[in-house]
Amino acid sequence: MKTNGAVTTIRPAVVGKLNERQVLRLLQTRGPLSRAEVARESGLSAPTVSKAVASLLKAGLLEEADAPELARGRPAPKLRLATSSTQVFGIAIDVAHCEVVSAGLDGVLHGEPVKVATPGNYTELIGVLSDAVRGLMARQGMTNLGCGISLPGLVDSRHARGVLSPNIPMTNGRSPAADLAASLGIECMLLQESHALCLAERSYGLARGLDDFAVLDVGAGVGLGLMVNGRILKGHSGLAGEIGHVTVVASGGRKCGCGNFGCLETVASDSALAYHAGRKLNRTVDADEVIELARSGAVDLTAELDEVAGYLAIGVAGVVNLFNPQVVFVHTPLFDIDPGLLGRVVEQVGQRALPPSFAGCRIQRAEGSKCQGAIAGIIQHLTDAVAPDVV
Ligand SMILES: [Zn+2]
Repeated sequence: MKTNGAVTTIRPAVVGKLNERQVLRLLQTRGPLSRAEVARESGLSAPTVSKAVASLLKAGLLEEADAPELARGRPAPKLRLATSSTQVFGIAIDVAHCEVVSAGLDGVLHGEPVKVATPGNYTELIGVLSDAVRGLMARQGMTNLGCGISLPGLVDSRHARGVLSPNIPMTNGRSPAADLAASLGIECMLLQESHALCLAERSYGLARGLDDFAVLDVGAGVGLGLMVNGRILKGHSGLAGEIGHVTVVASGGRKCGCGNFGCLETVASDSALAYHAGRKLNRTVDADEVIELARSGAVDLTAELDEVAGYLAIGVAGVVNLFNPQVVFVHTPLFDIDPGLLGRVVEQVGQRALPPSFAGCRIQRAEGSKCQGAIAGIIQHLTDAVAPDVV
């Protein structure tokens, strides 16, 4: 159990778990290491390390890797996070399609994610996702430990339930983690997609070692993930970061999926550009198609893209002023349209944000994906469950 409050007595079982956690964290950051190296680096005694390692091997979190042959004598086996014997899964649920991928406990993905079209109702959604994960579970000789699920919209993290998703309303009030766990027979956990992007960037992307940064996710909607003092900012009910539903067009704005008018995501998203393209072509254009139309030059959307970029800069400047992050990572396929777009957004943020806040902040394109974030989330969940962060 993870504890949020203070623990006043330290029990022997807790000490054991703390030792396991220390060994696990050391191997996550410095591995592979032999038992003797773990003892030396951690300051724990050899018997304590052996006991902790035995428990972690039994839980499937560690494995013994082949050590390189030494000139003389048998080399000590190296310990590492389980990668060849254990796998976890990551799912990113999104408006047009979902992605499913597997990875070792080091977070390295086993190839490109499998893409499946997002079905029209929730029962079918759980069905296609279960089938996709089962396909990956069929790998021979692997222990399947768990699955992380990235979900758009408001997510009640305490009850692992979708609350309000303006763009995928079929998940409202639903528990994809509980339903997939029942279908697949493995531990599943749910995380909000902006939180997933924060974890992906910090675990495997450009935010390694950063404790204060933001990820602005600009897709069909606009979401914000915030890492503050090394922790994801969740807010009172876990609903923080909904910058996409801040009103920026006070009158005459378009209707948003949330029911209001003139929200940021109606003017600063892929779907905003798709709306403009649709008006030009006199037909419906979806967010995936508009990127290709604009990138290929099939439709001239230069002025429309500049308008979207202008509102995107308003969003980024708001994040810079409000949270004073070290870096704002922007996650969006809009940058695939025009390589110069990020530079123009940064220039406009510089005109809108408070100069001292802007001066200390970098604005970069995000590298991580929601699938990677779902993988990072389930790995953190599993390692916390075996070796809880008890202070
Ligand atoms: Zn809205």
